[in-house]
Amino acid sequence: QEDIFKNVISHAKEYGYIFPSSEIYDGLSAVYDYGQNGAELKKNIRDYWWKAMVQMHENIVGIDASIFMHPTTWKASGHVDAFNDPLIDNKDSKKRYRADVLIEDYAEKLNIKAQKEIEKAKKRFGEAFNEEEFVTTNPRVVGYLSKRAEILKRMGHSLETENLADVKALIEELEIADPDTGSKSWTEVRQFNLMFGTKLGAEAAHAMDLYLRPETAQGIFVNFSNVQKTGRMKIPFGIAQTGKAFRNEIVARQFIFRMREFEQMEMQFFVRPGEEMKWYEYWKETRLKWHMSLGLDKENYRFHDHDKLAHYANAAADIEFNFPFGFKELEGIHSRTDFDLKAHEEHSGKKLQFFDTELNQNYVPYVVETSIGLDRMFLAVFSSSLKEETLEDGSVRTVLSLPAVLAPTKAAVLPLVKKDGLPEVAREIIEDLKWDFNVAYDEKDAVGRRYRRQDALGTPFCITVDHQTLEDKTVTIRHRDSMKQDRVAIADLRNIINEEVSV
Ligand code: ATP
Repeated sequence: QEDIFKNVISHAKEYGYIFPSSEIYDGLSAVYDYGQNGAELKKNIRDYWWKAMVQMHENIVGIDASIFMHPTTWKASGHVDAFNDPLIDNKDSKKRYRADVLIEDYAEKLNIKAQKEIEKAKKRFGEAFNEEEFVTTNPRVVGYLSKRAEILKRMGHSLETENLADVKALIEELEIADPDTGSKSWTEVRQFNLMFGTKLGAEAAHAMDLYLRPETAQGIFVNFSNVQKTGRMKIPFGIAQTGKAFRNEIVARQFIFRMREFEQMEMQFFVRPGEEMKWYEYWKETRLKWHMSLGLDKENYRFHDHDKLAHYANAAADIEFNFPFGFKELEGIHSRTDFDLKAHEEHSGKKLQFFDTELNQNYVPYVVETSIGLDRMFLAVFSSSLKEETLEDGSVRTVLSLPAVLAPTKAAVLPLVKKDGLPEVAREIIEDLKWDFNVAYDEKDAVGRRYRRQDALGTPFCITVDHQTLEDKTVTIRHRDSMKQDRVAIADLRNIINEEVSV
C-alpha cells in the first residue's frame, strides 16, 4: 500500500499534476501547487460539483465570499474558543502530532486486518461465502472490528468531555509509536487552535487581528439574509460556495489529503426546524449518488455515521473513501441545527430569520450542510484511476483512467508521421475542436509511445491522422481504457467525444 501511495505521488509530479510548493527552496510542508494538468483536473471537479449542486437545483444559489472575515465571526462560530484539536509531542523526536489522528490511524490498521481476513475467506469459500455472516461470527474479524469500535468510542468520549489525559492513556495502552521514529515517549496532550492569524492594516497600533478562514461555511451564514432577500429565496433553499480554507494542521504526512491551504466545496441548506432529519437523509443519499455518477469503483465508498457529535450538530456522517492509506473522510454531511445563525444573531445583534408565509411565522432556519474537500476529491479520483495493466503481449502499461468528464485533456491529435501534410491536417482538426474541448498536439516519437504517454496523462481519446486521412477525411480514434481503435469521419469527431465527456 505504501508503494502504491508513493507511486501516486511521483506520477502526479511526473505528469504535471501536483508539485511541492516552492520546490526550488526545498518545498513547504503540507503545501502543494497544482501543475498544468492538476489545475485542469481540479477545475473540472469543481465545475462538476457546481453543476450538480447549483445549476441542477432551482433552489440552490452560489456565492463567493472573502477569505478575510470580521474577527467576531470566529467568536460566534466557536473557532476561537472551542474548535481546538488535541496535540501531543514526542519527547525524543520533538515531533508534534494530532492525538486523535494517531489513534484513528491505529484503528484503521485493525480495520485493514479485518478486511484482509474477509478477502482470504472470500477466496477460500468462493460462491458459498456469506460476508454478513462471516463478519459477525469469525472470532478474529469480530475481535478486530470490536476493538476498533471500542477505541474510537473511547477517544470520542474523552475528546467530548475534554478529558485529554484519557486520550494520552489510550495512546500508551495501545503502545502507539511515533510514525516517523518509532519512539513511544509522549508528552501531555494539549489543545491547539488551528487557525492562522494575520493583521489587517499597516499601522501596528491600529492593526486588527484577523484569521484566515478555516472553513468556507461562515461566509455563507453571515450572508444568509443578503441572499435570502435579494434572491427572494423560500425555505427550503441552499447556498453553495467553493473556495480556499486554511488550517495550521499538525500532521502533514498524507500528501494533499491534509494540507495547510486547501479548497472546500460546501453547501448549506436552510430548512424548517423539525424537518432537518428528512433533509439530512436526502443529502446523504444525494451526495453519495453524485460520487457514484463518476463511475469509480463502488467498493471505494462507505458511510461512517458519527456517534460523537460536534457541539453544533444533531446528526453527522462522513462519506469515506478508500485512499491508498485506507478508508478516510472525504466528505461530511452535518445537521448543524440553528447553532450558527443563532450565534451570529447574538454576536451581531442582527436578526437572521425567515418569515414562512405558509406557517405565518418567523424563525431561525435549521441547517443541513454538505462539505467536501476539493483536494481530497482530487486525490480520490487520481489515486483510484492510476493503474498498471499487463497486456496480452506481456508488456505493462500505466494508465490514468480518469472519468472522461474530469480529464484535463479530452483528446490528443497525432499525425502518424511528421511529413506529407499530416501535421497540417492534425492542426486543422485541433483548430476545429478547441472551441469545445481541451485538445493536445503531439508529433514526437513513434505513435505507440505517444499513445502510452496520453494513457499515463489520462487523455480519453487519441486521434491519429494517417495517409488514408488525406484521401477520405477519416481518422482513427483510440479509446484509452479499451485501447480499441475505430475509423471515423473527421466530421463526426465532435459528437463522438461529446458523448463521452459531457455530463
Ligand atoms: P479531518 O477530521 O480529516 O481533519 P474535519 O472533520 O476536520 O477533517 P471538516 O471540518 O468537516 O473536516 O471539513 C470538511 C471537509 O474539508 C473534509 O471532509 C475534508 O474533505 C476537507 N478538509 C478538512 N481539512 C482538510 C485539510 N487540512 N486538507 C484538505 N482537506 C481538508
